[in-house]
Amino acid sequence: GEHGPEVPGRVIAHFGRTLDVRAEDDATLHRCHLRANLDGLVTGDRVIWRQAQDGSGVIVARDFRDNVLERPDPRGQLKPVAANIDQILIVFAVEPAPFANLIDRYLVAAEATGITPVLVLNKIDLLPDGGGKLGELLTRYEALGYAVIRATAQSEQGLEALHARLQGRTSVFVGQSGVGKSSLIDRLLPDEALRIGALSEDSRKGTHTTTTARLYGLPGGGELIDSPGIREFGLAHLDEQQVTEGFVEFRDLLGHCRFRDCRHRDEPGCALLAALDRGDVSRERFTSYRRILESLKQA
Ligand code: GDP
Ligand code: ZN
Repeated sequence: GEHGPEVPGRVIAHFGRTLDVRAEDDATLHRCHLRANLDGLVTGDRVIWRQAQDGSGVIVARDFRDNVLERPDPRGQLKPVAANIDQILIVFAVEPAPFANLIDRYLVAAEATGITPVLVLNKIDLLPDGGGKLGELLTRYEALGYAVIRATAQSEQGLEALHARLQGRTSVFVGQSGVGKSSLIDRLLPDEALRIGALSEDSRKGTHTTTTARLYGLPGGGELIDSPGIREFGLAHLDEQQVTEGFVEFRDLLGHCRFRDCRHRDEPGCALLAALDRGDVSRERFTSYRRILESLKQA
């Protein structure tokens, strides 16, 4: 017929019912349309598509999703924005110095997605010798099992650990404004053409919007899904249980409270409070936990 065989691909961008798909076998890009019965595809989705003679294509099915990153739309409704992400790189910086509570908020939000969070400390060129208080803070997160990558967008050498961590994985960058996300991404994707994608200008005309997420193949290896919305990823929409389970060191304790509906405040036989007394759970993390719960109530 008019179309070639069904082959696997990955959505690298979408504009309504038109999507750019990268063929998994030869990495070529193809402007594709959706079959009428398909909907809700997002960047990062793995799909099955068939190629037409002119190189364009039609998407016939979506593969299983490992995970999906969601964001509230303007009406507060959760909408998927990207799929099949291996890690959320939470960027913070030596300057402006991070609050532990802010890092905890990002970690909790990341844990709720089921996607592995990684902490990236940027601007280490500004770090005082020995690391100071920030060094202590990072040690605490490493002890919890989180990977911590130290980086600076000031030099190519400053990105070696980051390059290594990006290899073979699909990543997103999140973090507060001013921490250096743009600077890091500019370094990782130095070629403007790569950043925009290899489709001809013609086929993109009138359809390119900067707000939809886009998947980039990094020249140093690995893939990056990026959009302004993804960078602003945050806590919105989490409930109390998700926050509690977002503190990884709490998880093994939660089943051991005397009351099944324990809220870990002043209940007798609370395993979490006992661990806090023993020093197995840090005072800082527990305080942070309480603050996050308080802020959810106010939201
Ligand atoms: P974003 O808002 O997270 O995208 O942050 P930007 O990439 O716009 O960076 C914010 C500011 O920090 C800019 O003035 C950058 O030049 C600066 N900056 C970014 N990375 C570094 C770094 O590694 N070291 C230093 N000293 N400054 C940096
Ligand atoms: Zn409890």
